[in-house]
Amino acid sequence: MSSAPPIVSDAVPARVNLLGMPRARLEEFMVALGEKPWRAQQLFKWIYHQGVDDFARMTDIGRALRERLAACAEVRPPAVAEEHVSADGTRKWLIRVDGGGSVETVFIPEQGRGTLCVSSQVGCALDCSFCSTGKQGFQRDLSAAEIIGQVWIAARTFGLPKRGGQRSITNVVLMGMGEPLLNFDNVVAAMDLMMDDFAYGISKRRVTLSTAGVVPALDRLAGLSEASLAISLHAPNDALRDRLMPVNRRYPIRALLDSARRYMDAQTDVKRVVTVEYTLIKDLNDSVALAHELAALLRGFPCKINLIPFNPFPQSSYERPSRNAVSRFWNVLNDAGYRVTVRTTRGDDIDAACGQLVGRVSDRTRRSARHRAAAPCSPEART
Ligand code: SAH
Repeated sequence: MSSAPPIVSDAVPARVNLLGMPRARLEEFMVALGEKPWRAQQLFKWIYHQGVDDFARMTDIGRALRERLAACAEVRPPAVAEEHVSADGTRKWLIRVDGGGSVETVFIPEQGRGTLCVSSQVGCALDCSFCSTGKQGFQRDLSAAEIIGQVWIAARTFGLPKRGGQRSITNVVLMGMGEPLLNFDNVVAAMDLMMDDFAYGISKRRVTLSTAGVVPALDRLAGLSEASLAISLHAPNDALRDRLMPVNRRYPIRALLDSARRYMDAQTDVKRVVTVEYTLIKDLNDSVALAHELAALLRGFPCKINLIPFNPFPQSSYERPSRNAVSRFWNVLNDAGYRVTVRTTRGDDIDAACGQLVGRVSDRTRRSARHRAAAPCSPEART
């Protein structure tokens, strides 16, 4: 039997994507090219401040170096497959990533601020019973380039706070598809770029990681990141939370709250609080009794509470609570002295609200929403 011939690849070696590369690593990369490390800052300015992906346009870099960079490197954001714009300026991008998957990114302009909701994984492994992303299962982690690339794409349209403009991106929340703490290294690298003055320079208070409660990873994050923290609680006791969120069986409420407190204690500035997210589902976790239980649970815990009325999706039998039920729940917490907000939902008609992101555009969307878009994670507004 003759042996198989050796496989010889004549493919062009892949170029290194500079998008998403940590600044320290880019400095090393430039040194390896025989350049000074400060070249990395120059590149950062072009990539993140100016949104330039073509080395030829980086005019304060000498031509010879630009050509060498073009030969071995690239600035490659993920591809935008679809873009929907609403009358109120809300915008949703369907982002196609390598390997066939898609994720969604949403920009929500509001008075005085603009929040970008970013995805961290294609699909999600946690299978929370009220979330449509979970229903599609987990496909893969996004790379740091694909995460920061969502900001890059949005910044190209809206600009950053420093560059002014009413609709600039002032806040980024990791509340799109996926569980950010299960894609730890790429999420941390991308958040560092969001907060790095040489890149996007967004205040640490305005970059928020939201987690369902992967406790060991949250413990690892403490001391490593200064981003703001949101935890998805959704129930004030383990029996109920076990039913809603399988992750609770591994990391129950007490362990999550203790870990979140350790995260806040590791921050250098005092007065920061954890955002506790609580999705209200009709007749499941929206009773006045549970509101009292939640108030008791969180006593002494440094937090503000964000209530999210459930956003329905086809495979779910859950329902959104009435406005009255939301108000009653809000009142109990407010009377107990908590800072409580209700997240407004815009655009659940195009399946872009919290928990509706599945990385594809539904038929309903195709038919009805070419010029209306939505908000998955519109920040705190009392409805
Ligand atoms: N995996 C992260 C980010 C998920 S999405 C996390 O769990 O925190 C951001 C928020 O939307 C979470 O609080 C999530 O629980 C909530 N959410 C998910 N599905 C929802 C739905 N159908 N209606 C309302 N909120 C939902």
